[in-house]
Amino acid sequence: MDLNLFGSHAALREELRDFVAAFGRKSPRNVDFRNRPGKEVLDWQKILVEHGYVGRNVPVEFGGAGKPRDVMESHIIAEAFASAEIYPGLPSQGVSLLVPTLLIVGTEEQKRAYVSATLRGDLVWCQGYSEPGNGSDLANVQTRGELRDGYWVINGQKTWTSSAHYAQMMFLLCRTEPQQPKHKGLSYLLVPMDSPGIEVRPLKTMTGRSEFNEVFFTDVKVPEYSIVGNRGEGWDVANVTLEHERSLIGDTRKLITRLDKLIKLLNTTEADGEPLIHRGEFRTRLLRLQGEVLAWKFHHLRLLTEAAQGTDSGVKRLIVKYGGSVLASRLSELAIDALGSAGLQFDLTDATSEATTWYIDHMYDIGLMIGGGSTNIQKNIISERGLNLPREPRAANASQTGRS
Ligand SMILES: Cc1cc2nc3c(=O)[nH]c(=O)nc-3n(C[C@H](O)[C@H](O)[C@H](O)COP(=O)(O)OP(=O)(O)OC[C@H]3O[C@@H](n4cnc5c(N)ncnc54)[C@H](O)[C@@H]3O)c2cc1C
Repeated sequence: MDLNLFGSHAALREELRDFVAAFGRKSPRNVDFRNRPGKEVLDWQKILVEHGYVGRNVPVEFGGAGKPRDVMESHIIAEAFASAEIYPGLPSQGVSLLVPTLLIVGTEEQKRAYVSATLRGDLVWCQGYSEPGNGSDLANVQTRGELRDGYWVINGQKTWTSSAHYAQMMFLLCRTEPQQPKHKGLSYLLVPMDSPGIEVRPLKTMTGRSEFNEVFFTDVKVPEYSIVGNRGEGWDVANVTLEHERSLIGDTRKLITRLDKLIKLLNTTEADGEPLIHRGEFRTRLLRLQGEVLAWKFHHLRLLTEAAQGTDSGVKRLIVKYGGSVLASRLSELAIDALGSAGLQFDLTDATSEATTWYIDHMYDIGLMIGGGSTNIQKNIISERGLNLPREPRAANASQTGRS
């Protein structure tokens, strides 16, 4: 790939320089994505939408910039924001997961009702897929939806639902066709979180915070038109969303930023008066990780080249979620080792201390290796779909793996 930019791409980079100079100071810093976005974040989100940096390829009639899809443009925008340390906009499940799904399978009414408001941050969504007995085995969802008198009546329970404590809407997977085989019996519904019969209970994680929730449904009613796709097609609709989720979790920029932070930590943390970066056991691990991050960066560029050429990257794309999330965790693991006994004094209620940030990142990394399809499930996908290896042996009555 030629890394130089020409024509419209070079012009876009210039445009971004001007944007950063004019608006950069308005970018929020240290955004806490675990709580409802505040005014500063929402104002910034609207600036991004109005300049076409969020919702760039979304048609104008649904609140986007209506530009043709161009992966290089998305890459240039993301790079410019990362290097200027500017907030790239809400990473919410609504913007990242629901909007692309609605644009592909939603009705005109659904696109009009939800896409623009979601892009602008006025509507926050949560994802109601996982249940106490069905995470990896997503197709086994048991929450029921029954059509009665023009309404879907929903009963059941979701769990691990990020943002449910402040989201206004949920995209929910439920079983509407119990007589059909499990992959054919699901439907995808859009549910207001203030509907009578919904109860949200926070779950406390080992970070000491409540980042996700249990959500209980008792005779919750939503109009029949709240379905996305047709009855029984929920599995296919959900998989449109999962593709987006996995590419988000494998983001390379996060790895590069984290590596830089780790190098700084090893340079500034000393043992016996010597910076840790000079000690063999840390230096060797750091160099190995640095090599892997670099390889990952070039892998990303290769995927970018193939996407720009319209080529399906196949197995090269399938390794992104697995490889990216595991490498992120190994980077924070080295930081935890470097912090040593100093790190044991971290205080989870003080998110400004460096040790606390590393510990929270490291604990959250474990979650990212699970969420959106666990590492084990990703390995199944890579081997079975990417490398055409034989399917893993299954117990006689074991259910098929859903998130694969
Ligand atoms: C931070 C975070 C945020 C999340 N947010 C959301 C959300 O907003 N909405 C939502 O719906 N869900 C959310 N989840 C849930 C997430 O999608 C599930 O945790 C995930 O799909 C795994 O399901 P499970 O927890 O039920 O584990 P299980 O499926 O019970 O798996 C347990 C273990 O068994 C392994 N395993 C299972 N099946 C196989 C197999 N066939 N082969 C090999 N190993 C296997 C898994 O890898 C795992 O190690 C979130 C999870 C996390 C960690």
